[in-house]
Amino acid sequence: MVIIDDVIEEGRRELIENGLNNGLLKLYLAGLRRFVKILTNQLTWYGVPYQFKRLPSTKCPICEHELRQLPGRVMVCDQCEFKANRDLVPIQWAIKIRC
Ligand SMILES: [Zn+2]
Repeated sequence: MVIIDDVIEEGRRELIENGLNNGLLKLYLAGLRRFVKILTNQLTWYGVPYQFKRLPSTKCPICEHELRQLPGRVMVCDQCEFKANRDLVPIQWAIKIRC
């Protein structure tokens, strides 16, 4: 089972907040959508099940407490001491869901 983190809406918001201009934003999202389409076509072709699921990067995958962001996109949990790069937190969620 492949879990595809559905980042389109949050990713769009984050890119706007980071000051990406509209033309580049449209180009980036079109590329992302094209990649997801190719990926899902391939998964379907090979009979691999997949599921779109929003995987949080601000919630602890161990205890589900809100994470606090440190400099350098490092996320830390004040409750259980989980610590990871913000981009890797959703992967931890995918592993948790799979188990
Ligand atoms: Zn935690």
